[in-house]
Amino acid sequence: MLQPYVGVIVKVLLIAIFSNCCLAKPSRSRFTNYTHYRLPESLKPEHYTLKIVTSLDPLHLTFAGEVIIRFQVLIGTGNITLHARNLTIDENSIELIKYDDNESTRYAIDAVRVMGEHDYFIIHSCLALLRGETYALKLVFRAPLNQLLYGYYRSSYVDQVTNETKWMSVTQFEPTYARTAFPCFDEPNFRAKFKIWLGHQKSLVALSNTPLAKQEKMYSESNETDDYVWSIFEETVPIPTYLVAYSVNNFTYKLSGNYGVKFYTWCRPDIINECEFTAQIAPELYKFFESLLAMSLPFTKMNQLFVPNFRARAMENWGLITYRESLLLCSLNSSSEMSRQRIATLVAHELAHQWFGNAVTLKWWSDIWMNEGFATYMSILGVHHLNSNWNFLQIESMNNILDVLEYDVQVNSHALTQGIKSTIQITSSFDLLAYKKGAMLVRMLHMVVGDDVFLNGIREYLSKFLYTADNYGSLWNSFSIRAHTYQRLETRNNIKIVLHSWTSQTGYPLLKVIRNYSNDSASVTQQRFFLNSSRGKNATKRCWWIPITLASASRLEFYKLRPSYWLECKKNKQNINITLSGMAATGDWIIFNVQMMGLYRVMYDADNWALLNGTLNSDKYTQIHVLNRAQLIDDSLALAWAGYMNYRLTLDILNYLQYEKDYLPWRTALRGFIKLDNILKGYEKQYKLFTNFLKYLILPTYNRLHGLNSTQNEKEISYIDLMHKTQISYWACYLQIDDCVNASKQYFANWKNSNINQIPTNLRLTVYSTAIRYGEQSDWEFLWQYLQESNNVVSEQRTIIQALTCSRNEITLRNFLDLIFNNTKYRQDSVAAFEGIARNKIGFPIAKNYLIEHFDQLRDYGTISRDVINLILSLARQVTSMENNIGILEFLAKKRNIFRHSWKTILSAVEITQLNIGWIRRYRAVVHNNLRRRNLKRGKNPTRPK
Ligand SMILES: [Zn+2]
Repeated sequence: MLQPYVGVIVKVLLIAIFSNCCLAKPSRSRFTNYTHYRLPESLKPEHYTLKIVTSLDPLHLTFAGEVIIRFQVLIGTGNITLHARNLTIDENSIELIKYDDNESTRYAIDAVRVMGEHDYFIIHSCLALLRGETYALKLVFRAPLNQLLYGYYRSSYVDQVTNETKWMSVTQFEPTYARTAFPCFDEPNFRAKFKIWLGHQKSLVALSNTPLAKQEKMYSESNETDDYVWSIFEETVPIPTYLVAYSVNNFTYKLSGNYGVKFYTWCRPDIINECEFTAQIAPELYKFFESLLAMSLPFTKMNQLFVPNFRARAMENWGLITYRESLLLCSLNSSSEMSRQRIATLVAHELAHQWFGNAVTLKWWSDIWMNEGFATYMSILGVHHLNSNWNFLQIESMNNILDVLEYDVQVNSHALTQGIKSTIQITSSFDLLAYKKGAMLVRMLHMVVGDDVFLNGIREYLSKFLYTADNYGSLWNSFSIRAHTYQRLETRNNIKIVLHSWTSQTGYPLLKVIRNYSNDSASVTQQRFFLNSSRGKNATKRCWWIPITLASASRLEFYKLRPSYWLECKKNKQNINITLSGMAATGDWIIFNVQMMGLYRVMYDADNWALLNGTLNSDKYTQIHVLNRAQLIDDSLALAWAGYMNYRLTLDILNYLQYEKDYLPWRTALRGFIKLDNILKGYEKQYKLFTNFLKYLILPTYNRLHGLNSTQNEKEISYIDLMHKTQISYWACYLQIDDCVNASKQYFANWKNSNINQIPTNLRLTVYSTAIRYGEQSDWEFLWQYLQESNNVVSEQRTIIQALTCSRNEITLRNFLDLIFNNTKYRQDSVAAFEGIARNKIGFPIAKNYLIEHFDQLRDYGTISRDVINLILSLARQVTSMENNIGILEFLAKKRNIFRHSWKTILSAVEITQLNIGWIRRYRAVVHNNLRRRNLKRGKNPTRPK
């Protein structure tokens, strides 16, 4: 379908009155040596007319296009520098036209040059382009629809009725892939209007950012295109290139939304009913954001498209949101409440982006945390609005905080604001910290300034900067001014300075609170928290502006979220220590950072820890707010791990879990136990003591929640208890508690025998994993077969793949890696599969050797180096001895050149291995002795302390 295309495109209505030919011969020396990683600022694109003809003929999966970019010259120049990559551009058909008042002038092109390093396509004009004038550049290009899941790519599925493979095309442009689909000024600050024409077979559907304006027949000299039409879309408002989107497919849709904006949720016809939930919730979430932010966007139609193969989880394109299909499918009858909540989170995040990122866009990628942080935080508010029974405000905030506290601790972590100088750096800046640290800083800010200041500041900011690019600077000013007016912040304090201390520095602080019991005061100091406390001694000077909130045994002020004090910084990052008076009576505990509103850990003197420990291990433990119970668990585990506190105290604190009924403290503890489980599992004696301790803690809760008992179905227990049951039963089975293992095996056997899967959806990961871990090879084969044969399990694909990695058969695991990496259907789950095998004690050496032996193939397969780096990180986390490490360091050193742009991440992988090995050296015996002492003591005195 490609060949006839050039003649097919409708002739552009640009009339060249005359051309100016170069007098001199084309010469390479005409190019100035421009090597900067950002585009020159001499040109400002204003409008793109983009025409793309897509062929979904299985033998010609290609596209061909023409773009006319109208731009203004801000600084006179002889060159037009824009982005293009992997495109075949027809250099003979480049046209450059200058618009005058009454006529248009065609400019001759001297030469073009491609600069691979920054994806530059540079066109040299014979005549200089004059400041203040407007020009139009036309380029004709073509490329295959790639399989790489970025740019303009192809995706497919198997029709369940006809068993035929059906092809579709779709875009994924963020952050730097628009340039692989059409030549463009591919930086976020270059916003322009787009008029998009999609040429396609008339039997198919074409979608883009805006509603369809009209459809017309595509005329051609050749008959071959007779069944092709142009779908012509309404012009967009000014948007950056990374938000442009289009797709050609044979999908069908669910229509929802009963007010201004109509939502079209597009899915392949086979699964249209599973798209209902997304269709239902999106308008409600959209309306919530619209009223919360007091701003209507110019949408009359919002498309949501489920894509069978999609690398990211979702993408917030202007008016055409794309999702990874497997993450959103939801059967109204059988899907779990947890999957509904996950779907809502994803949909809310992408909708929030329509304001944060789309309506106002960042000037450059170095502050991507602001886009992602705001979208993530707003999604929490949105999901909470949708269903407050999910307790999302607490649970999701805690999840994010724990993730940040866990990941932002390595020497090679990075500041949120980063210098970004290459496309690879842009891609890797979309990491956990951008999303979660960003979101939790926004949460902290929200709590510091209060609802009204926060929302009014945002509203004013969005309307002031609508359709422009900005780096949020004036938002911080607006917060400060309002916060001063309402006396939420002392006038000498400034939000921009506060925030800068959190975004420009790597890591986060540890607050040290040392009480003076003789005069009820406490000295408060800060330092950076390191995973190995001895590193802190040589650390360079750091200082954070820390909001301080607190509660005590006699003043249970856990809901007072505005800071009572600030720990401030001098200009040169010098700390200012403070002494607070009137803290609490001698016998009362105090807790800093109520509800974990700030992103920091707290370390107390031994006496205060003892007071806290006494209350936790008593009937009064619920006096401490549930988020702060989680905080005490996480802090004490981390402080002991890093050497700031002894394990004896940590284990004393964890002991109270046998009474804890709430989900969140348990969730926090289980996260911490994963780390200990990981590091101890290679050391038999310690591992046995550790797992015995865990069984002792977990059994009361397991029994209280009736184990895997299915008579309590999802509708009979609260959502939170259901989540709790899910996490506790997973661990109970993992720890080989007989009741759990037997019940899982029984569930699985019933399914195998009857071919009817009656396993409750929330327990499937537990049951599948347990059946695979402790079952027969035939169980593995059954589950694998089920995954392959059924087209109905897309939403379960990740769960099944995770379970299959639990096998204890080396050959099976080795073959499984081949099966996963050689089938595009599983591409999006391949990193998770690899990680699961690496985590499996038997699987670790298999995963390690596989990566080393198949590196080149995996690199091609992943294409984005981030995938391969994720594989390396998954391995690094499992290294707990020098023996494990053999081969890895040599391999990384050998590949240094390949990883040169992401060497920092490789260094952090190496650091993880060193930290793990160092921990074993320092704490294996300590943990052993403390667990042994505890087990002995428990034998003698099993009663609850008062
Ligand atoms: Zn996002």
